[in-house]
Amino acid sequence: MSAYDRNNVFAKILRGELPCKKVYEDEFALAFHDINPLAPVHVLVIPKGEYVSQADFGATAPPELATGFWRAVSKVARDLGLDTEGYRIVANHGPNGGQLVFHFHVHIFGGRQMSHAMRSMPKADSQG
Ligand code: AMP
Repeated sequence: MSAYDRNNVFAKILRGELPCKKVYEDEFALAFHDINPLAPVHVLVIPKGEYVSQADFGATAPPELATGFWRAVSKVARDLGLDTEGYRIVANHGPNGGQLVFHFHVHIFGGRQMSHAMRSMPKADSQG
């Protein structure tokens, strides 16, 4: 995976150079609404640090940041009222994972029944 690009869109949001619809912020994380929501609730949570992806974050983030980040993910989902009905979290990693923005982020999807997407994933040898 390539090096962290400080001009990625989430880096600009973290620096306040681009606006976002903020949901939550603390010393470890920033959460904001996805600009192109795919569910009634679609919020992104990003760590305050330069991490390209889940692989990078999981391997190199200091323990305090890793814990603080995941606690923020849980808090955001809870504060959005999603705990009872449930929600989905997704982190896309790299080209095969469909990652488009190369600052590690977690998607929180909620507010409707999710399809069990893993049942409809293409077979490893298909072109679909
Ligand atoms: P991915 O990297 O595939 O996990 O997805 C990146 C996500 O970022 C997509 O769901 C986009 O809609 C979202 N996104 C891109 N630019 C912005 C922005 N300026 N504000 C909020 N969400 C964004």
